[in-house]
Amino acid sequence: MPKDGFGDWREANPSDDPGAFSLPVSVPAAYRVLINAALGTPAEAALRRQVEPSDPEGVVSPNESADPLGEARYLVTPRLVHQYRNRVLLLSSGRCLGYCRYCFRRGYTSRAEGFIGEDELEPVLSYLSSNGEVEEILVSGGDPLTGTEEELRYLLARIRSVRPSLVIRLCTRAPIFAPERLSESLVGFLRGVRPLWLIPHVNHPAELGSAQRAAFARVLDAGIPIQSQTVLLKGINDEPRVLATLFNQLVALGIKPGYLFQCDLAPGTAHFRVPLSDGLSIWRELRRLCSGLSLPVYAVDLPGGGGKYPLSELALIEADRMPNSDTLRVTGIDGKVYTYRA
Ligand code: SF4
Repeated sequence: MPKDGFGDWREANPSDDPGAFSLPVSVPAAYRVLINAALGTPAEAALRRQVEPSDPEGVVSPNESADPLGEARYLVTPRLVHQYRNRVLLLSSGRCLGYCRYCFRRGYTSRAEGFIGEDELEPVLSYLSSNGEVEEILVSGGDPLTGTEEELRYLLARIRSVRPSLVIRLCTRAPIFAPERLSESLVGFLRGVRPLWLIPHVNHPAELGSAQRAAFARVLDAGIPIQSQTVLLKGINDEPRVLATLFNQLVALGIKPGYLFQCDLAPGTAHFRVPLSDGLSIWRELRRLCSGLSLPVYAVDLPGGGGKYPLSELALIEADRMPNSDTLRVTGIDGKVYTYRA
């Protein structure tokens, strides 16, 4: 058994064995309700494609990687990634409530590691205690809400006990896949461990059903702020009007759309990636359809560990000038040059 959460897959070439990165198939009950509500409309396919596997998933492109964000480079304990100066990412669980077929962390989630145990948590707490420059922790995975309520309470309470003012970001797809997990009881607990933000992953307006809206309302009513993330996905939400509807509806619920991400270079996900030139056109149209409040930052995680790069108008103009307009070659957070090719 490998010693750390990422394990030995990070050295592997995914094109040698695409099967090694195959995700479980799981469509949560709440998501089935959304699919049934969308039957016969374009939204039905948009929802199904996110969770139902298809043949192209078995095809690995040469530019794809087992660790597309280069996170393994920044592991400081088997479960903790420290890439940015003031924040760390905790791999709290390798499991998810449902499995997104475009998963950027599929090299990890395909291994389905369980919820973080005591022996893995201790070095995390020790690192947090001795690194005062860390101001935020992203509790991610997989999905932290795959843990039992007891496990999640224990984890967050221990983090809070060593760092009383650390900002916790709870990164989860639970409000969409399993809104019942955000029960009054759990939300009441989360209220008590603030400062805490909920960071849900939401991709389509049809994902905002009544149960999902009620879960968001419970969180907001508890005084917990929410900032969403969306992945730009071919054939799912690559229409400016679909995205604008999503972002405007999120704002109406009290949620700030944070990021619109280019799809990462994870194994077997080429069929989901929108070319940069198309992403540019979509983003330009979104600027017309959204207010400053509802418009998220359009960004890419530079492959290999270069960090988040905002695809600002200037960067996209530079990309347009390149011989292949779907190649972005820019400087990452560490001063090195990185190339993203959709
Ligand atoms: S919820 Fe996140 S980590 Fe889990 S399968 Fe979806 S994208 Fe991957």
